[in-house]
Amino acid sequence: MKLYFREYGEGSPIIILHGLLGSSDNWLTQAKLLSPSFKVYTIDQRNHGLSPHSDTFDYESMVSDLAEFIDDHKILDPVLMGHSMGGKTVMNFALKHPDKLKKLIVVDISPRAYDLEHYSLVEGLVKLPLATLASRNDADAALAGDVPVGAVIVRDGAVIARAANRTVRNQDATGHAETLAIRAACEVLGRWRLDDCTLYVTLEPCAMCAGASVLARIQRVVFGAWDDKAGMVGSVGDVMRHPRLNHRPEVEAGVLQEECGAVLKDFFLSRRGL
Ligand SMILES: [Zn+2]
Repeated sequence: MKLYFREYGEGSPIIILHGLLGSSDNWLTQAKLLSPSFKVYTIDQRNHGLSPHSDTFDYESMVSDLAEFIDDHKILDPVLMGHSMGGKTVMNFALKHPDKLKKLIVVDISPRAYDLEHYSLVEGLVKLPLATLASRNDADAALAGDVPVGAVIVRDGAVIARAANRTVRNQDATGHAETLAIRAACEVLGRWRLDDCTLYVTLEPCAMCAGASVLARIQRVVFGAWDDKAGMVGSVGDVMRHPRLNHRPEVEAGVLQEECGAVLKDFFLSRRGL
């Protein structure tokens, strides 16, 4: 099987294998740290990450995948480093092909008692509202407790920035989807004026985000659900169309209101159980 892999740096070769349910992504930081002195390969083992899936899933097949990878890439005397399941793969590999590696590193937990912290993780995962999650990011946001609000900024029919609420994840009171998307769009365009852009957001913007939209000279704002408690584009007040401001974005409100509202309702219902 041809495995998905990433490579970093130059030098003598080291191949890193992740553990069960992991992927090469988990080793990105270490790979970059090693890259000044090593040619680092991180691979996704079969049935993991971006590598192909197969009904055959045992150490024998993972060892032959690794041998094929080493042969395909003509890697001579690699250091093999494996974590957990990857550690067992590299140990099995060393038994079968002792002449095909230079060193073996097994990264694993030490034999001591650990707190049962995984229970709370599993409980959180079990309570995730899977029916309303569309991506890993959504699950990440739900676990963190960020209110699921999403924003995109469109220019000439193309999405140039997108963001979700990250207040909890970033521990930043200003980490609202619209403000993050505006910052990202300014960075993409290399200018602070977004007067040729439309901001789409699932919830009526708050005072800060309405203010940021005015300051960025956003041409048009389209939002989904109304926010009776904090909305500042009609509900509690109207920052965006304040008669004394010199820029007033066009506003279209209540687009896909029910769908946008349902995501929020489900989120708050699911939080009750946590
Ligand atoms: Zn806001």
